[in-house]
Amino acid sequence: MTKHKIDTSEIERALHHGEFCFHFQPKVSFVSGEIVGGEALLRWIKPDGTVIFPGQFLPLAESSGFITNITAVMLPELIENIETIRKTKADIQIAFNISARDLDSPYLVKMLRSFIGSKRINPGNIQVEITETAVVDNSDRIMTSLLDLVALGVEIAMDDFGTGYSSLDLLSRLPISALKLDQGVVLRMTKDVKSTHIVRSSLYMARELSIKTIAEGVESKGTYTYLMSAGCNEVQGHWISPAIGIEEYTKLCSDEPRWPGSTFGLLYNAWVNHISYRRKVLDAALTLAMTHPDEWAGLPKMDLAHSPARCRLSQWYMGEVGEGGNTRREFKQLEEPHRLMHAAGASLIKSIRDRSGTRDISRATRIFLEYSDVVDAEVSRIVERDLEKIIDKLGHENTLARELIDGENVIALDLKGKKAK
Ligand code: C2E
Ligand code: MG
Ligand code: MG
Repeated sequence: MTKHKIDTSEIERALHHGEFCFHFQPKVSFVSGEIVGGEALLRWIKPDGTVIFPGQFLPLAESSGFITNITAVMLPELIENIETIRKTKADIQIAFNISARDLDSPYLVKMLRSFIGSKRINPGNIQVEITETAVVDNSDRIMTSLLDLVALGVEIAMDDFGTGYSSLDLLSRLPISALKLDQGVVLRMTKDVKSTHIVRSSLYMARELSIKTIAEGVESKGTYTYLMSAGCNEVQGHWISPAIGIEEYTKLCSDEPRWPGSTFGLLYNAWVNHISYRRKVLDAALTLAMTHPDEWAGLPKMDLAHSPARCRLSQWYMGEVGEGGNTRREFKQLEEPHRLMHAAGASLIKSIRDRSGTRDISRATRIFLEYSDVVDAEVSRIVERDLEKIIDKLGHENTLARELIDGENVIALDLKGKKAK
């Protein structure tokens, strides 16, 4: 750590003397337990070996505007690093952080376009992380840059989600395809049930918007396991690995290590999606029934596409996934009522739109709810069976539950109250 105050000329000198490099923090898939990516984090390594972390120089670089020089000098180095990692893992996705100023002019997009155009990297090899403070003013220039990046095929992630003020609205307006839960909120889950609620609600909202979720700041197995079962997609944090140098990172990728992984989160996501669909149908039915047809054009968009194919539940069973190798045949009992439930939902909404009589509408509501209950019971059965398989696989009953509820790093679950019973 340096004690003296760093000034811009010192940052400039260090940048041009090659004292900056990237360290990489692995990102793991909660489904496979394998490394799928990494985050490139800037490190200033002084000639005497002292490492200076971004928190000590980036705020000044940001406020002085020098950050764009850092990005412009370091991006080609990052691309070289990615080319090296790709030799070990071709489909690696490396995230890098940019500031609002990088989006305020077209240079970032131009540079990335040329690296992708010359086939040095694929668009899928790179992900851009932005913070909401960076885009909060939402200028046209920033929006254009973001849309240009999306057109290039580059994924955009919203970093530190859960810390700012305008997150929800921004998520719907910006072309974001991944959301990174703020490490502060993730860390506080072991202390405070409100943080657990914030994380669960963020995961829920991201699912509704079809946005991938990444948790950062995971420092314990308990937090890892909890987020895996809550259906989060990817994870990074000190429990897996801190950011490490390029050689060490590439070696780690080639060793193909595995952390716990489970498809259970996918099933959970599918189930939540199904339950939310049922609510949406009932909300829409009530809203339509209580408003005059002349007012319908002005109603909120209610996303009621009645195709089971679009529903995450059928995407889940069609994908033939499931703990312990479930097969399509096992899902037959689910597929039929699920298809009929969607058809019943569509006819319920239609009967209200057509201003059918009360009896017809009640009948359509009853049929919809009956099928929905059958689907729910069938999913519950699969969940129960898969959970049993997981516990069997672990070899000692209730390990999972004990670690979550009684472990060193207790997640603030609502369930905690059950301990006293
Ligand atoms: P960030 O993008 O939110 O990066 C995550 C930070 O959390 C990193 O700190 C990382 O080392 C740290 N971290 C990761 N896992 C854990 C964990 O389990 N526990 C704890 N306590 N911390 C963890 P770092 O490397 O100091 O970076 C700080 C911030 O600096 C980054 O926050 C990012 O906003 C910014 N930054 C880093 N590199 C760059 C860059 O190349 N360009 C720009 N514009 N900003 C950068
Ligand atoms: Mg980041
Ligand atoms: Mg972050």
